[in-house]
Amino acid sequence: NQLQFTSGKCDLQYLKAIVSKMAEKLRFDGRVAVVTGAGSGLGREYALLFGSRGAKVVVNDLGGSFHGDGASKRAADIVVDEIRAQGGTAVADYNSVVDGSKVIETAINNFGRVDILVNNAGILRDRSIAKTSDLDWDLINAVHLKGSFKCTQAAWPYMRKQNYGRIIMTSSNSGIYGNFGQANYSAAKMGLVGLANTVAIEGQKNNIHCNVIIPTAASRMTEDILPDILFNELKPHLIAPVVVYLCHESCKDNGSYIESAAGWATKLNIVRGKGCVLRTSIDQTNTTPEYVQSVWAKITDMTDAKHLDTIGQASGSLLEVLEKLKEGK
Ligand code: NAD
Repeated sequence: NQLQFTSGKCDLQYLKAIVSKMAEKLRFDGRVAVVTGAGSGLGREYALLFGSRGAKVVVNDLGGSFHGDGASKRAADIVVDEIRAQGGTAVADYNSVVDGSKVIETAINNFGRVDILVNNAGILRDRSIAKTSDLDWDLINAVHLKGSFKCTQAAWPYMRKQNYGRIIMTSSNSGIYGNFGQANYSAAKMGLVGLANTVAIEGQKNNIHCNVIIPTAASRMTEDILPDILFNELKPHLIAPVVVYLCHESCKDNGSYIESAAGWATKLNIVRGKGCVLRTSIDQTNTTPEYVQSVWAKITDMTDAKHLDTIGQASGSLLEVLEKLKEGK
């Protein structure tokens, strides 16, 4: 609905309706939210906002360094105290997300259910591709990709049984666009997009939604990377309302990628060009690299590129190409 203007005057009734709608707070009473890596940065902001909106919160954090060394209970404990101080309910969980079943057990043992899982825990081990060790690769993939998989898989039977779930995967522009020195991190972060795509499909029939957040925020992870002028505006608390809304029962999105930073948010899509047929008829059973070279500009032309919603649409459009070839078009 658009705001109605008549003779330059705003429709007062409509304005009142919007104001009263905004006054209805999105609540999470009776819901249990697990936020991984909630001891600092973005995760802490998500946990605080969930707590202030009535959710019972599991504040998971291993409490190590941002390179993935060490462990401490302090980070999670402080956030639990903050939530309780504002009148909310929270418990700490100190497990690594790699032990996803233990993280989810904390929710079940304390609150009897899990409705929301925000896979947020993360570390960085930046190296150029030439210098990336197996350890750099394995640790990054373990925490980001495997950790999100293990927590999601552990929450799955509970969400299926209650026919309700909201899951967030945390990606990054480093994955979407690439970033020098982050081969391991980029791969894991793009892997999370693939994981979310399939989790969204598998969860749909049980009202389990899975969406991706692509944040940019000032945190211990980015303090050495971002210029001061940007760092000061990129408050993590500005992203929390976006993630919290994505996890509300009223949000119908499933399989969306949402980018957010500095009090701004948008949806991101993968698009596909119109393409180019490499055969002149259905009877032509091969093509050549020279032909591909000759039509490369058409293959890579992104004019009228479109977003496809499903793998079925992708193979469906191939069938159309084959039909046209058969008809000699
Ligand atoms: P942060 O370092 O402040 O928070 C990450 C938290 O995860 C830390 O408290 C850490 O102790 C915890 N953690 C690390 N390994 C863990 C493990 N194995 N098990 C449980 N907890 C663990 O960083 P942040 O900037 O708030 O990042 C949060 C998420 O957002 C990360 O996944 C990060 O990759 C992603 N992200 C951040 C930005 C940004 O600009 N800050 C950009 C893109 C993506």
